[in-house]
Amino acid sequence: MKENNMKPETRDQKSEIGGRGTRDGGRTSSDVMEMFKKSGALLGGHFLLTSGNHSDQYFQCAKVLQYPEYTEKLCGIIAGHFKDKKIDVVVAPAIGGIVVGQEVARQLGARSIFTERNDGVMQLRRGFEINKNERVLVCEDVVTTGGSVFEVIDIVKDNGGMLSGVGVIIDRSGGSVMFPVDDQVACYTIQAVKYSPEECPLCKQGSQPVKPGSRDV
Ligand SMILES: [Zn+2]
Repeated sequence: MKENNMKPETRDQKSEIGGRGTRDGGRTSSDVMEMFKKSGALLGGHFLLTSGNHSDQYFQCAKVLQYPEYTEKLCGIIAGHFKDKKIDVVVAPAIGGIVVGQEVARQLGARSIFTERNDGVMQLRRGFEINKNERVLVCEDVVTTGGSVFEVIDIVKDNGGMLSGVGVIIDRSGGSVMFPVDDQVACYTIQAVKYSPEECPLCKQGSQPVKPGSRDV
């Protein structure tokens, strides 16, 4: 576990608000799971993950975020965590992060901008700017390896922004992804069950894995 990298007060807060370290089934944590279930975001089946591994479950975050009421509640966990940080601007990677960044920014009274890929390179476009010394919060819907978030962090640094933290709805890494920030929070942390293609019991039963998520559309 790398949770010892976090400040103690952060860890205490997180166990109450449903962040990292809530696998003990805290009240808010089960509320979050209830929202996923009600919206059909928790999918069962046979999935091909971005990593190449297979899994029998997948969280389709977009399905829960289609309900603004749930989006407000989930993003409220992130916004509540950073409410005293005087965030100037929330930056999120397109596409999945946009809705999250927008709602977190609304609740924090901050600007909301997003990055997007152009020829595979993550960039700020559309006239979006991060000004020098602005306090920046990076938001994303789901992190597994956190690749997009790391790229956004580089953009924040290149523009002279002051990185205040990272907030995500779901950490699928089981808490192992650590960003180079003092403070990161997830509404829900899971350790996805995954199999290598050679060992996958679902493949052995003869079914074919499907690619979920937006990245492959
Ligand atoms: Zn399989």
